[in-house]
Amino acid sequence: MNDNHYDVIVIGAGPAGLTAGIYLARGKMKTLILNEGTVGGQMVLTHEIANYPGIEKISGFQLARTIKAQALSFGCTIKSNIRITKLEFEKSIKSVEVNGKDTYTGDAIILATGGKSRTLNVPGEEEFKGKGVSYCATCDGDFFQDKNIIVVGGGNSAFEEAVSLTKYAKSVTIVHQFDHFQAFPHAIVEAKNNPKIRFLMESKITEFNGTEKLAMVQIQHQMTKEITTMAVEGVFVLIGYEPSTQKLRGIVALNERNEIIVDQQLQTNIAGVYAAGDSITKRYRQITTAVADGTIAALSAMDYINNRNVKSATQPSQTNILLQHSELSPVIENYQLVNYLH
Ligand SMILES: Cc1cc2nc3c(=O)[nH]c(=O)nc-3n(C[C@H](O)[C@H](O)[C@H](O)COP(=O)(O)OP(=O)(O)OC[C@H]3O[C@@H](n4cnc5c(N)ncnc54)[C@H](O)[C@@H]3O)c2cc1C
Repeated sequence: MNDNHYDVIVIGAGPAGLTAGIYLARGKMKTLILNEGTVGGQMVLTHEIANYPGIEKISGFQLARTIKAQALSFGCTIKSNIRITKLEFEKSIKSVEVNGKDTYTGDAIILATGGKSRTLNVPGEEEFKGKGVSYCATCDGDFFQDKNIIVVGGGNSAFEEAVSLTKYAKSVTIVHQFDHFQAFPHAIVEAKNNPKIRFLMESKITEFNGTEKLAMVQIQHQMTKEITTMAVEGVFVLIGYEPSTQKLRGIVALNERNEIIVDQQLQTNIAGVYAAGDSITKRYRQITTAVADGTIAALSAMDYINNRNVKSATQPSQTNILLQHSELSPVIENYQLVNYLH
């Protein structure tokens, strides 16, 4: 095989892709990680991470740098700020074209392209990201002890997170653009019964203001068009999530929310193509869950490659040995077969 052939190509270098890289390279797989953008993914947008086990507090940038260094130390190749221009996964050797000119091939692929929270796209939102504006209550709720905060949204996650944020906040105002909610009735009842929660219906935030940190927002009523100013220390924008799977449409199976459909081993609908992290069908999108997915996808890809190699090298009589152990996991099967042959 040529220099551009790898055992596994990982697409995406957030926590899921980098973790997959660590496990693969440490397992002696020739591994290439291709990333459109800065290595680290959403982690690098995170001012402070306080829920990664074993590290009390760390900036997202520093955590990304540490995980990247760990992946490189085991021999991973990482190419960042590239553009994926073509993906072909149907044959047993899969190919990925980069920048319209270089083609890399792999025996297995791990898709770890992550995604991003939907934003309001109004003035000041970008400026106060991480300085009062958040998209993740699980990540940042704890930073708003005894503060007055807003939750934007009317779906289930907005309602669930609004209720959970009352553990920390002095008050939570749910701002919603319509006169009705999309959340489940029981979630609405729970929020309405919570004395810390109030509602501003048919209203939209039109501007975020402050100096170093968020201090107030402009809110416009959608019917009267009247604009009011509200003092607030935190705003959680919980209006949905977009997986970065545009380039995977028609390549692997996606669900109606454009998330990659995977099985328990995190394999997609194509043999040898796995997916991990925020881009797959899942409920909880965290660094720890992305890291766990990266681990599972890497181990599954290694099993896939080892099984294929063992099967192609096995004589009929030796195949029987595999069949005798068919109730065992593929890793154990391989281990026993290799030991037997020695
Ligand atoms: C502001 C903010 C704060 C957060 N705070 C926390 C926190 O405190 N604790 C916590 O646990 N979680 C936090 N999260 C969530 C956490 O960052 C994500 O769950 C996690 O990063 C998901 O990891 P991932 O590897 O699946 O995807 P991502 O981190 O999204 O990484 C995906 C990578 O793939 C690249 N990519 C995308 N498309 C392609 C393509 N077609 N080809 C090649 N590369 C591609 C992207 O550029 C990116 O580098 C936060 C998220 C945000 C936005």
